Amino acid sequence: MRIQFIGSGDAFGNGGRFNACLLLETSETPCLVDCGASSLIAMKRFHVDPNSIRTILITHLHGDHFGGLPFFILDGQFARRSAPLTIVGPPGIRETLPLAMETFFPGSSKTVQKFDWSILEWQPRQAMNLNHLTVTPYPVRHGRTSSFALRVEAEGRVVAYSGDTEWCDELAEAGRDADLFICEAYFYDKSIKFHLDLKTLESHLPAFRPKRLVLTHMGPDMLGRKDLGYELAEDGKTIVLHQSL
Ligand SMILES: [Zn+2]
Ligand SMILES: [Zn+2]
Repeated sequence: MRIQFIGSGDAFGNGGRFNACLLLETSETPCLVDCGASSLIAMKRFHVDPNSIRTILITHLHGDHFGGLPFFILDGQFARRSAPLTIVGPPGIRETLPLAMETFFPGSSKTVQKFDWSILEWQPRQAMNLNHLTVTPYPVRHGRTSSFALRVEAEGRVVAYSGDTEWCDELAEAGRDADLFICEAYFYDKSIKFHLDLKTLESHLPAFRPKRLVLTHMGPDMLGRKDLGYELAEDGKTIVLHQSL
C-alpha cells in the first residue's frame, strides 16, 4: 500500500500547507481519505488524476476535510468522468454535501451526473467493505460535529488516521498495533478541547503501540518547533507499506 499526503495542513493554511487529504493506493483502485477545500488543487499539483479515485472516505464535515467535494464532483462532470464514485462520511453527509454544492455552485446539486455516485454513512465501529478496503470508523471527540477516526485494512496492512479530535480511548482502538498511524497534533503541550497536543498523544502511545507514527494537521505552535523527535507529514510525502506475507 502506498500512502501520499496530498494535504497535511490545518484549516487555516498554516505553513502554506494544503487542507487534509490522503491518497491510499493499492494494487486495486485508489482512495482518498478526507478532501478539504484545497484538495482538488493539491491533487493536480501532485499529478493525481481525480477521475482515478473510486472511493472517498470523510472523517467529519469541517470545510478543511470535506469542502473539496463540491469541486471534485463538478470537475468530474467537466472532465467526462465515467467511473463510479462512492463517498462515505459521518451521519448527515447525505444532506450536507448537496447543501455545500448548491452554495458554492448553484444548480450543481440538481445536475444529473454523467457518472454513478453514491453517499454512504458511517455507523460507529461497523466495518465496511469498500472495494478492496475494510474500513472501521471509531467515533472521536471534535466538538459538535460527528467525527470519526478510521482504521483501514488492505493487503494485510493497517493504516489508521485520527481525523480531528481531542484525546479519547477510541483513538487507541483505531491505532492499536497499526502499521502506520497518522495522527493530528495541533499543539505541542497545550491541552485544548477538540484537538490533540503531542505531549498528550505521547503519554498514551505505549498503551496502543502503533508501529509507525506520522504527525499531521499541525498548528503554528508545532510548525515553529525543531527536532520534535517524531516523523512529520509534509505535502507530497509518500510512504510505502509492503504487502505482508
Ligand atoms: Zn481539520
Ligand atoms: Zn475539524
